[in-house]
Amino acid sequence: MNFQFAEPFRIKMVENVKRTTKDQRQRWLKEAQFNVFRLRAEDVYIDCITDSGTSAMSSEQWAALMRGDESYAGSQSFYRMEASVQDVFGMPYVQPVHQGRAADFMLAQLYTQPGKYALGNMHFDTFRGNAEVAGAKVLDLVVDEGLDAASPASPFKGNLDIDKLEHAISTHGRDNITMVMVTVTCNNNGGQPVSMANLKAVGSICRKHQIPLVIDAARLSENAYFIKTREPEYADWEIKAITREMLSEAETAVMSAKKDGLVNIGGLFVTRNLDIYHQANQLSIVHEGFITYGGQAGRDMDALAVGLQESTRLDYLDYRIKQVDYLGQQLKLRNIPIIDPPGGHGIYVDAKRFFPHIPQSEFPAQRMVVALYEEAGIRCVELGACAFGSKDPVTKEPVWPALEVMRIAISRRVYTNRHLDCIVEALSYIYSQRETYKGMKLVYEGPITSLRHFTAGFELLP
Ligand SMILES: *Cc1c(COP(=O)(O)O)cnc(C)c1O
Repeated sequence: MNFQFAEPFRIKMVENVKRTTKDQRQRWLKEAQFNVFRLRAEDVYIDCITDSGTSAMSSEQWAALMRGDESYAGSQSFYRMEASVQDVFGMPYVQPVHQGRAADFMLAQLYTQPGKYALGNMHFDTFRGNAEVAGAKVLDLVVDEGLDAASPASPFKGNLDIDKLEHAISTHGRDNITMVMVTVTCNNNGGQPVSMANLKAVGSICRKHQIPLVIDAARLSENAYFIKTREPEYADWEIKAITREMLSEAETAVMSAKKDGLVNIGGLFVTRNLDIYHQANQLSIVHEGFITYGGQAGRDMDALAVGLQESTRLDYLDYRIKQVDYLGQQLKLRNIPIIDPPGGHGIYVDAKRFFPHIPQSEFPAQRMVVALYEEAGIRCVELGACAFGSKDPVTKEPVWPALEVMRIAISRRVYTNRHLDCIVEALSYIYSQRETYKGMKLVYEGPITSLRHFTAGFELLP
């Protein structure tokens, strides 16, 4: 028997958080125009707005921080970080950047062309934005079940649909496609994993057509854990052997180290193509910093060197994925509709089924976010009509996204299962009186529609 199923760490420093009253929260919501991005973090009891850059560092990481070598060029910190990344990625050339989107910028500069296509399972916003600014077109080709928040549970809803990929290549022509990117795990549809079989199938199509394959490796370790536990041939593989095998299909990888790097800031551009590496070096010098720091302090690179190793430990991943799963199972027990099975970094609640009487034009997922903060001081994020809604370029009519969800992102090593119980109780309470909620109206959006969720203002409909 295994009786050691609790957290594989103990807590030796705590950050106090504030308990607040419903009256206070109602006032703060009004002041923030019902946009939780505009709240002060100190007024939040449990913060699930993101898992990005919010991890708790280990004592080993804090110790590594003190070793930071702040030399401008060729610091020891760089070489320690480089060795750690080479070990986990199995790729030779490592360009640090200040955070993931800087690597997305390099990717857009080096792998896209105006008017041509970048294909992927689901492109994350920051790559999409950089590619579109560079004039490229991006297409999401995730499997259909990954686009339906009510689809039955299945193990790899992040997979790139092979038929859609072949079809896109034959429709648009190989010469109009500059890259294929697979994001692991697939952030936009629930942190859903991509299987090794899918990566290999995508890799072989890319090889056949000589299209470069790139991996967005922000949650590389979490994806590797799902492969180990859901794809029988890999059950006995070490996590790092799986991460290297995943990346063996790719020419280049980018990473926001704020996720599975277990650090609060940092990013990576990693490649096996020496020419691309040299070009990335030039972009780094212009935009980020010299090649061996790329916008990171030496101490940050040391913390990343250790964090990346810790994130590939099986005991850590077992705790991490099971904690997120615990939240999902508790919500399911109370009939709350979620994307099933739970993904790697959070639970995505399906607002279309939670508030079936609120149409997408009245922002049901945002209504859930507001209700959860009002009742409990818990902050989540809307991924639906506000974040991904757009306008038809010709008719100017609104176009609503397939997914209308509230994401409960779980920070790494930060909250206990008791915190998760608060989320479960509060959401169950709201669900028990769901008919009493009405929708919302967007009263301000800011200059760029695709970024409006950060700046939007709302009113509650009477
Ligand atoms: C967070 C994230 C990014 C962007 O990284 P930042 O560090 O926030 O700039 C890119 N891709 C994916 C999949 C992400 O989750």
